[in-house]
Amino acid sequence: MPITLVDRGEYHSFIPSIHEIVSGANRARDIQIPLALILGLAGIAFVRDEVLSLDLESKKVLTSSRILDYDYLVLSSGVENNFYDVRGAETFSHRFRSPEDAERIHADLCSLLADKTQACSIVIAGGGRKV
Ligand SMILES: Cc1cc2nc3c(=O)[nH]c(=O)nc-3n(C[C@H](O)[C@H](O)[C@H](O)COP(=O)(O)OP(=O)(O)OC[C@H]3O[C@@H](n4cnc5c(N)ncnc54)[C@H](O)[C@@H]3O)c2cc1C
Repeated sequence: MPITLVDRGEYHSFIPSIHEIVSGANRARDIQIPLALILGLAGIAFVRDEVLSLDLESKKVLTSSRILDYDYLVLSSGVENNFYDVRGAETFSHRFRSPEDAERIHADLCSLLADKTQACSIVIAGGGRKV
């Protein structure tokens, strides 16, 4: 049975290594694997596209460029950041979810630490899951 994976992103990111980007031990590209490559090796087709809507009656997935038919559909769209109403967190904090987020944190930490004239303090807001 043919399997197709649709994702708007080009890469699978090995998130357990994301802290290595923050520390500078690795670059984003070191923990990113092209989805087309790994899926191709497993005989899975990859469509890089945005899923816009589903038609459950007629079993169709509408993306920004095509309509895909399916017999079985697995939805795994991940999660979004949640700031749990911590005042100022959304406006002033860095996100920490993707390799690109981690590169921004690394760059900002480097510039903060390079400034020897000022003491720097860092606040980590959140990090858990609300149940
Ligand atoms: C900092 C950090 C460290 C972590 N460390 C670990 C760890 O050490 N071990 C561990 O087990 N877990 C870890 N996790 C958790 C782990 O990353 C997540 O549990 C896991 O990625 C969830 O997988 P998922 O497939 O549900 O979602 P995701 O990995 O978020 O994948 C969802 C995918 O859906 C795609 N997508 C969403 N909407 C659309 C759309 N409309 N059209 C097309 N594509 C779409 C997105 O592009 C994305 O690629 C960590 C998470 C974070 C943030």
